[in-house]
Amino acid sequence: MDKILITNIQRFSVHDGPGIRTTIFLKGCSIRCPWCSNPENLTPYPQEYSLDGIDGVYGEWYETENLVLECLKDNVYYEGKYNNKKLWNIKKYEDIKNLPGGVTFSGGEPLLQMESLVTVCDLLHCQNIHIAAETSLFVPSDLLDIAIQNIDFFYVDIKIMEPKLCRNIEHGSIDLYKINFDKIMKSGVPVVVRIPVIGGFTDDKQNRFAVKQLIQQYRTSILKIELIKEHSLAIKKYKSLKMETSYRGVDDSLLEIYKFELKDIGIPIEICAV
Ligand code: SF4
Repeated sequence: MDKILITNIQRFSVHDGPGIRTTIFLKGCSIRCPWCSNPENLTPYPQEYSLDGIDGVYGEWYETENLVLECLKDNVYYEGKYNNKKLWNIKKYEDIKNLPGGVTFSGGEPLLQMESLVTVCDLLHCQNIHIAAETSLFVPSDLLDIAIQNIDFFYVDIKIMEPKLCRNIEHGSIDLYKINFDKIMKSGVPVVVRIPVIGGFTDDKQNRFAVKQLIQQYRTSILKIELIKEHSLAIKKYKSLKMETSYRGVDDSLLEIYKFELKDIGIPIEICAV
């Protein structure tokens, strides 16, 4: 039986897709953003931690059926609402506003466990439950293909665009990212773009320009842009894992400037703290 490694099931999430969501945090990521707000989700195995005299383990393996049963505990929030699956074919951002919830896979990079997630998706879709995922796109393209076939809505990150900085800072390949970005934008699955605005890493003028160029190229495939404000909530988690944090904070006015710079693309933009 397939198993999925997760660190948390967050119920009643309102920032992770249409309506009220059950957000599942999957463990394991292929890159290492220094500003990551979920450092407990980086390694693809359970990991011991210690904080303020309390010891524990981040990560627990769930059999796929058991994970679906956990989601179904929240069925009252999405039950029966999606019987007309034509509603899932969202064309503009306003279309999702009145739709009820579902399940969102987050992480870490959830698509790395996509082969096991297919069973979860099948069982949830049998119950007419809508599925979203948040992805960095730093995943093998064949896993992205499987995700596109099985997931109804994506949040896609755009971070550092310059190839060397992407490799040296995030430990990712921008070439792979661009191949996957093109693939997901041409897939027809609804996409919201998320841009983490991180002091000293993603907020410089050159990067903002490169991000804008990429969005402009695919503007008709993007429902909305979310500028994600850096926060300090993960500092305790870094401490619990004896890891250094890179938190530097970002000037609020820069988020407004960034928003202004992207405005003429003509896609709805929101500044978010998620
Ligand atoms: S892609 Fe997301 S989960 Fe992975 S290191 Fe970056 S911020 Fe963290």
